[in-house]
Amino acid sequence: MPDPDAKPNGPRRFFGDRLVIASHNPGKVREIAALLGPWCPHLISSGDLGLPEPEETGDSFVANARLKAHAAATAAALPALADDSGLVIPALGGAPGIHSARWGGPAKDFAMAMARVRAELDAVGAPAGADHGPAAWFACALSLAWPDGHDETVEGRVTGTLTAPPRGDRGFGYDPIFVPDGRRLTFAEMDPGTKHAISHRADAFRRLVARCFATA
Ligand code: IMP
Repeated sequence: MPDPDAKPNGPRRFFGDRLVIASHNPGKVREIAALLGPWCPHLISSGDLGLPEPEETGDSFVANARLKAHAAATAAALPALADDSGLVIPALGGAPGIHSARWGGPAKDFAMAMARVRAELDAVGAPAGADHGPAAWFACALSLAWPDGHDETVEGRVTGTLTAPPRGDRGFGYDPIFVPDGRRLTFAEMDPGTKHAISHRADAFRRLVARCFATA
């Protein structure tokens, strides 16, 4: 439904009561439902609708989030939200970046992926030590697409440094090697609530809510 108060070239706001979460990952759907529940009572996952997962052929987090959101919005004929995230290491030319999940292999083995990060940093002469390791950031793109082809897309980040060896067993993925700026603990050592308040995902949701959901 068009927003009668929208500025002609301002962001499009979400006024519907049904939104598709373009993910087949139940954990991700639950997390998004908790964040967006106050603004949209009926969240439906693309997995529940039996929609196919498109191939992530984009060359950036934003491009992949957009292509997943548009595929779901078109197939479901409803607005759809998709995300794409990963770890960016400038000393490795941005790797693993959009290939972050793939570095874990089919078994999602992130001990192996973190060992690869360390080996590649050693190879370029930027070893990840316990302190003052190389800079890195997590990025999260969120795209809200409508069936008419419009989308609103944001990117959130959390910057930090990489540590070695990995520390902590609370989190997932690359959490045990990432120390956010201004902290001593890795994401995997922190209380999950602390991580969720400062993470790239929280930053992206704050941006999207301000842009498309929050009332003035
Ligand atoms: P996708 O966004 O589900 O395609 O996958 C993102 C990949 O990036 C995950 O499999 C993780 O390896 C990594 N990643 C994204 N966010 C985080 C995080 O908060 N902590 C650790 N790893 C993350």
